[in-house]
Amino acid sequence: MTEPAIAPTRLWSDLMTLASIGALPHGGCDRLALTDADAAGRHLFAHWCREAGLPVTIDAIGNMFAWREGADPALPPVLIGSHLDTQQPGGRFDGPLGVLAALECARALDRAGARTRRPVVVVNWTNEEGARFAPGLMGAAVHAGSLPLAEAYAATDRAGRRVGEELRRIGFLGQGKGPLAAHCYLELHIEQGDRLQHAGKTIGVVEGTENNLFLLIDCWGENAHAQATPMRQRRSALLAAAAPITEAEQIGQEHAPAGSAGIAAMDVLPNNRINIPHHARLSFSATHPTSDGIEAIRTAIAAAAVRVAEQTGTRIELEPAPVRPAVDFDPALGDAVEQAAADLGYGTMRLRSRAGHDAIRMAPFCRSQMIFVPCEDGISHSERENMTESDAAAGAAVLLRVLCRMAG
Ligand SMILES: [Zn+2]
Repeated sequence: MTEPAIAPTRLWSDLMTLASIGALPHGGCDRLALTDADAAGRHLFAHWCREAGLPVTIDAIGNMFAWREGADPALPPVLIGSHLDTQQPGGRFDGPLGVLAALECARALDRAGARTRRPVVVVNWTNEEGARFAPGLMGAAVHAGSLPLAEAYAATDRAGRRVGEELRRIGFLGQGKGPLAAHCYLELHIEQGDRLQHAGKTIGVVEGTENNLFLLIDCWGENAHAQATPMRQRRSALLAAAAPITEAEQIGQEHAPAGSAGIAAMDVLPNNRINIPHHARLSFSATHPTSDGIEAIRTAIAAAAVRVAEQTGTRIELEPAPVRPAVDFDPALGDAVEQAAADLGYGTMRLRSRAGHDAIRMAPFCRSQMIFVPCEDGISHSERENMTESDAAAGAAVLLRVLCRMAG
């Protein structure tokens, strides 16, 4: 047996081939969860798995699992992967890097004639992004048991289509099962920030995640004629929504660089140019490493809402959403990533993830760990998302080394 090694050109060519599915004109991708483009990406991944001799099972929420046998099939497997769905627009690497690097690890074991003691399972989680159906991290949450399947099926997109129906429509409503237990879960991902690039490091040892807050802000005014209504009578929900947008940005600035806050989306009703709108719904999100920090952000946006409602004669309601608390990954696995990177000669940095990832949902299910690699200027959820072939290969090589150690 030779030492297993990643084939960097194969990994990069897989990433580029997948990126041609749902390709956008400026270099990005649009494979929103459970669309035809997502299905096409899934079929390509399944094809590559079968080509590598890995049978694929699909569970009831559409998660895809590719199985590589171990010498002792009774042992819980090492689970490695990420997601193939994207934002709209999304990039080429957020998610696919982790799935395709995991697949390349399995091929590397084959090329080296390596038999691990534990089985290795490569996973593509359903609807990580949450861009079309909330909540995100859906497939991993269902697998880990923190989101009931029926609740996931009932989630609807803006057009009213349900997750359950869309899974059936694209042919990924499976009857198979993923591993009932796992020895550990490993996920390689681009950083989606610029800390590694600034520090000149290749491998991020992710200690955990930060506190995340998502909440809806509903602004209520009254319909009226957009031209004929006297100015003194107007109560526009859109006007009420304008102030929280700038206030949220200001709150984010006040908590930077540790924290962040902002409003990313708005729905206006009736959204008709001759009606003063009666309803505007804003999607607010924030992150902070400490729970005091995230609660301070919540208090600040709530106070801003009260102030704005008084000034505009409207009603503003904040959804009483819970904080998604910070998760700590497994310290021993973090040490293993650091050691593997050192063995391979890569510089490392310890950091926490600001964004949500499938590994957050997997952490209560089994020991979990993420590996970050740099992306250009920290840009993600954008067509401009980019990374180098050598960083992709470095991340995959570290993943493979930790995998070999954990799978025996
Ligand atoms: Zn991702």
